[in-house]
Amino acid sequence: MLDRDHPFPMATVLDGKLLAAAIEQRLAAVISAGLARAGRPPGLAVLRVGEDPASGVYVANKEKACARVGIRSFGHHLPADTSSAQLLATIEQLNGDPRVDGILLQLPLPKGLDERPLLAAIHPDKDADGLHTLNLGRLLKGEAGPRSCTPAGVMALLAKAGVKLEGKRAVVVGRSILVGQPMALMLQAAQATVTVAHSRTRDLATLTRQAEVLVAAAGRPRLIGAEHVSPGAVVVDVGIHRLPPDPEKGPQDKGSLCGDVRFEEVEPMASAITPVPGGVGPMTVAMLLVNTTVAWCHQHGHGLETLEDLLV
Ligand code: NAP
Repeated sequence: MLDRDHPFPMATVLDGKLLAAAIEQRLAAVISAGLARAGRPPGLAVLRVGEDPASGVYVANKEKACARVGIRSFGHHLPADTSSAQLLATIEQLNGDPRVDGILLQLPLPKGLDERPLLAAIHPDKDADGLHTLNLGRLLKGEAGPRSCTPAGVMALLAKAGVKLEGKRAVVVGRSILVGQPMALMLQAAQATVTVAHSRTRDLATLTRQAEVLVAAAGRPRLIGAEHVSPGAVVVDVGIHRLPPDPEKGPQDKGSLCGDVRFEEVEPMASAITPVPGGVGPMTVAMLLVNTTVAWCHQHGHGLETLEDLLV
């Protein structure tokens, strides 16, 4: 007999890895069907500046994912002392390159480089990350456009799990432009009633316990525990952190990954929950591929019927 005080005997684990793989298969089919007419595959340019090790892993994962679905990737790895002017020139060149449908500036940039003018210089139609001011404005106004990949991936996971959002109370913990703000707008567009919490929010647990859908995107390892969650809530963990190596596991241990949520505490209370790793992370990459493929489809007049459910 499970010790649970709500009618959900086991939380559904929202498997982002599985859904991302299914989306990749669909994208591969769209790309191979349109290749003859387009005369070229979709192209994604990934701009990486400096030697941030985590960025190196993320970029490699994105390039491998491109290869799996038939997107050509154009890697640009520039030294940490690259000037803003040089980066702007590279972005301008990629804006004009007819082989490139999406441009991604991998963040964070080395100290001293301001990402804002660089993101603004990416042509809005090639904005694979959906972070251009125009595209954030389109999201705000409910107009079509490339969406920020992480929250779009969360929406796809919720839709796949059949989570009904209309009229639900949703709380988003975090208000960054990358995650929290677009997440709140997407949930609101799906008819949820949304509250956004941030570092100055008083009594976070009282607020989050009101959530039927809780999205944790605070970037604070294991911030959200049992005291923050009401029974039966759907809990999405956007956070990703590498914990310090555990000396007891030996010198090979690089430290395990965790999210913003204490999974072991929250899972018994939730009706559905994303794991870390294997939840939101793979979905972020999948939505990057979606944005690039959709831009390619627009460029070549392919219909988007088969991808419509992924466009939030
Ligand atoms: P960020 O820019 O650092 O923003 C964090 C937000 O959380 C801020 O709005 C901050 O409030 C708020 N916050 C911080 N501490 C808080 C607290 N104790 N209580 C309530 N709110 C708090 O981070 P981000 O770029 O949005 O990323 C968030 C997390 O998601 C990070 O762990 C990041 O690594 C991860 N991430 C994962 C993926 C993925 O694919 N899985 C993609 C992107 C990001 P203020 O505004 O008041 O400072």
